[in-house]
Amino acid sequence: MRRTLVVGNWKMHGSRPANAELLAGLLAARPYTADVAVCVPAVFLTETAATLAGSDIRWGAQDVSAHEQGAYTGEISAGMLHECGCRYAIVGHSERRAYHAESDALVAQKAQAALARGVTPIVCVGETLAEREAGQTEVVVKRQLSAVIHQLAHCAAEMVVAYEPVWAIGTGRTASPEQAQAVHAVLRAQLQAATGRADTMKILYGGSVKPDNAATLFAQPDIDGGLIGGAALKAADFIAICRAA
Ligand code: 13P
Repeated sequence: MRRTLVVGNWKMHGSRPANAELLAGLLAARPYTADVAVCVPAVFLTETAATLAGSDIRWGAQDVSAHEQGAYTGEISAGMLHECGCRYAIVGHSERRAYHAESDALVAQKAQAALARGVTPIVCVGETLAEREAGQTEVVVKRQLSAVIHQLAHCAAEMVVAYEPVWAIGTGRTASPEQAQAVHAVLRAQLQAATGRADTMKILYGGSVKPDNAATLFAQPDIDGGLIGGAALKAADFIAICRAA
């Protein structure tokens, strides 16, 4: 049985006072039946770690460098994230693929860099609206996942996958539970063929998850939780989603 995981992706939102209020709200609402995590802007990691230390709420980053160390101005290594107590690093989010031209190969290197330092990568895959309408959904997500699996081979089983259809992100247009489940089943079959352990691996859904649609999404057999954007910024909404698990 896979335990549900709900991860808040704060993206480039937050401030010290707002974070303190949000995290205090999440802490006060414990216990959760789901595993709960927040992926915060890197500058807030130390403070987030101090606030959440000793609780069962986990924290992580929204990106990681593919490099271990060196002259890479502006980059943050997996070792640094590990030192900040990060359990997770999101890699390959569609916003990074789109705005920072991240390729499948780079995403795979980032996932490998995270794993090498004991940080679990949350590998994002998902098709654009044009790709869905062209009937390319399966081809696209399989290509994105296969790059990572190919690179990681033996340790792929330690990662989390997030299916985030690009057309559902921040649009209020959620994939239906059936649409999401269909893609999750494809991804699980691909993971099973590569690792033989897909029944233990978590595949999260992301894209306009809200308190009122979370329960039906999480009830699907291959949806193991969510990667939450906008609704992760309000304690009441995020808590409601965590409780929908
Ligand atoms: P929204 O929940 O705001 O649609 O964002 C989803 C997302 O991109 C999470 O990584």
